Amino acid sequence: MSTTRAVPPEFSSSVPRDLQERLRALRARYGRHRADSAGYRFEVATNRRRFQLAEIRKQIAELEERARVIESELQGFGKGMLVLVREEIAAYESEFPEAWSPTGVPGFRIWVLDEGRLVGARRPWTEPEFEATCNAFPDSDEIPHTDERCGRLGCGVYATRELRPLLESHVREGDCGYAAGRVEMSGKVVEHEDGYRAQKAIVVAVALIGRDREVYTTDRSVIQLIFRNPVAALDAPASRKLRTPVLPLLEQHLQERTDEWI
Ligand SMILES: [Zn+2]
Repeated sequence: MSTTRAVPPEFSSSVPRDLQERLRALRARYGRHRADSAGYRFEVATNRRRFQLAEIRKQIAELEERARVIESELQGFGKGMLVLVREEIAAYESEFPEAWSPTGVPGFRIWVLDEGRLVGARRPWTEPEFEATCNAFPDSDEIPHTDERCGRLGCGVYATRELRPLLESHVREGDCGYAAGRVEMSGKVVEHEDGYRAQKAIVVAVALIGRDREVYTTDRSVIQLIFRNPVAALDAPASRKLRTPVLPLLEQHLQERTDEWI
């Protein structure tokens, strides 16, 4: 809104310019008004309105100035809010360490060969890829959950950060009928003291230990065969006679590429 015309013109635009100039010249020359004339009263009424109009325009200008101040305060609040939002996100991230990982986070798992299938801690894996589900809240899109709503341990694909403690706690030299693998986790990956819970995991290296045969591979199609049909994989050309001791070989195989990621 324009407030440049704070004081209106002396005469209405409906009074022709030549008449305006004529009256100004007469006033200047004779300097005389008749206070009781209709013209004079009209002039007073006009002046009063000019003054009122000027006052209103001044108030409008003041209100506009106040509006500008409030607008700039709101912009300031916006910046403050941005800082607060960042702080709140940082607080969540430090309390619940997790990452949305576009590249795989490496980890390790063990599966037991049971009735022709490789079974994880909770479920059989029939493919090298596994996407976590939540039994308690299957429709949630925040898997794995970090608020203990589905139990203290929580949902997600579990994997350890280090291979050796996993082997030491699950298998002994001379055991057979299991697979140990390196996985890459992606999606939402929640970090724990010695491992992870992930939304998704894919097996990228695996050692399948049978009674007298073994398969060590990083080949995608062989890994797929191992999870689809581990018994067939132990009979396939990719397998060989079991070498001993198993655990150092297994550790070396699964650790091979890990250094590249660090
Ligand atoms: Zn859950």
